[in-house]
Amino acid sequence: MEPAGKIAIVSGGNSGLGEGGVKCLLAAGATVISFDLSGDAPEGAEFIRCDVSDEASVRAAVAEVIARHGRIDILLNNAGIGGLGPVATPEGPGDMANFRAIIGVNLLGATQLVGHVAHRMMANQPSGPDGERGVIVNTCSIASFEGQQGMGAYTASKSALAALTLVWARDLSHYAIRVNGVAPGFMDTPMVAMLPPDLVTELLADNEFPKRAGRAEEYGQVVEFIIRTPLINGEIIRLDAGARPPARTKWASA
Ligand code: NAD
Repeated sequence: MEPAGKIAIVSGGNSGLGEGGVKCLLAAGATVISFDLSGDAPEGAEFIRCDVSDEASVRAAVAEVIARHGRIDILLNNAGIGGLGPVATPEGPGDMANFRAIIGVNLLGATQLVGHVAHRMMANQPSGPDGERGVIVNTCSIASFEGQQGMGAYTASKSALAALTLVWARDLSHYAIRVNGVAPGFMDTPMVAMLPPDLVTELLADNEFPKRAGRAEEYGQVVEFIIRTPLINGEIIRLDAGARPPARTKWASA
């Protein structure tokens, strides 16, 4: 799908990878609306306050986009939160409130956003040579495939999102809507800014090449490539410099 002239929603578009996606889509000529809890949308983008974990908030924000623009062509389903914790310790079971909170944003939030947006995409006029009605990109993670020690909730949310990508591609193919995912490795964003430098060095050592953090604009370029390429469907593209994380870091086992 050619992004120019299209209406795109980016969840979590006010920071990090989402901001990279917003800027790429703006540069490609799309009208971009960031759904976020707080902060400011990048210059040139619109902002609608939305908590993706709250279905009423998602319903209202999607309706607001329809009221303003009449349709939605692209969804970058990116909002997410991190969090660590073991399933149990000698002191007791793991923190289920934390587990539910992460699932609530990363999995249930992502799912209800796709539901409300895809429903609206179905009403679009077919566009381009293949008659596409919409493109959805899910932000997964390398933890979708290799969750490390302590990453249970995050891994549960992101592996489910990766698995759902193919299911949603199958659900929505009858309507000419594609669904794909990007699975970033270690990316330089506010989400990971508080990690100790030694841990970052250890994580980046898992990269084959190049041994550096990814940049938000590199993620935006992959998102744009997926949007522009009709034959990519039901696919997850890793953006991780070949990293295959081991069971644990020294920090987790310390
Ligand atoms: P970030 O913290 O910089 O940005 C996340 C954005 O999502 C923020 O603007 C935040 O306000 C928003 N957000 C959080 N909860 C929300 C909610 N309930 N409703 C609406 N917006 C909400 O983080 P980031 O690193 O840019 O992460 C973006 C996505 O990429 C996340 O899904 C994350 O899991 C994933 N990811 C990040 C990395 C990395 O290394 N940074 C690696 C793999 C995957």
